[in-house]
Amino acid sequence: MNKFTILVVEDDKPVRNLITATLKTNNYKYLTAENGASAISEAASHNPDIILLDLGLPDIDGTEVIKTVREWSGAPIIVISARSEDADKIDALDCGADDYLTKPFSVGELLARLRATQRRLAFISGPQTESVFVNGNLKIDYAAGCAYLGDIELKLTPIEYKLLCLLAKNVGKVLTHKFITDAVWGNSWDNDVASLRVFMATLRKKLEQSSDSPQYIQTHIGIGYRMIKL
Ligand code: CA
Repeated sequence: MNKFTILVVEDDKPVRNLITATLKTNNYKYLTAENGASAISEAASHNPDIILLDLGLPDIDGTEVIKTVREWSGAPIIVISARSEDADKIDALDCGADDYLTKPFSVGELLARLRATQRRLAFISGPQTESVFVNGNLKIDYAAGCAYLGDIELKLTPIEYKLLCLLAKNVGKVLTHKFITDAVWGNSWDNDVASLRVFMATLRKKLEQSSDSPQYIQTHIGIGYRMIKL
């Protein structure tokens, strides 16, 4: 069984059935939603690894779903859009979507996009062989998907956890804003740097004893961030 769970958001039944049949054949686990409201509640309650999102939904616009989900989740979002919705597609990417598929799409292309997204996720969470990372009091158990400071588990959101893993995997190196946003969101847009600052601030609030003299994450103004090797 493929360990990735995909949330399929699509109101058009034949398209939804095509996607779920494809996922089933390829051993993915999946959930479905037929409108924006149920997409948001499914994403919140099941924390899927990847979201396939149709933009034209019956209740709210797909971009609204992206904005809402992005408030707490860094899960990759692949937008499914008709060719006539080009402007919407750009909006969707600007809102925080990672990739898009244009309708009509082939099953082969859908699977290739999913594989590319999975590779990026694997890269962010680090190789399975080095299953525990330790730096000072910080410990990351990659296999369990948990981070600890001393004996206390850090209550991180998925995106904060991804940021922490990315910095840990590159401990000692300065990572540029673009490198980080590419790795975490998949596409680099100007507004992602602003989001990055927000996510980094909430991560540090949980990680650092003192915000004035951070022990773990150093800011390089105008460049990026670095995890200090302790
Ligand atoms: Ca639709």
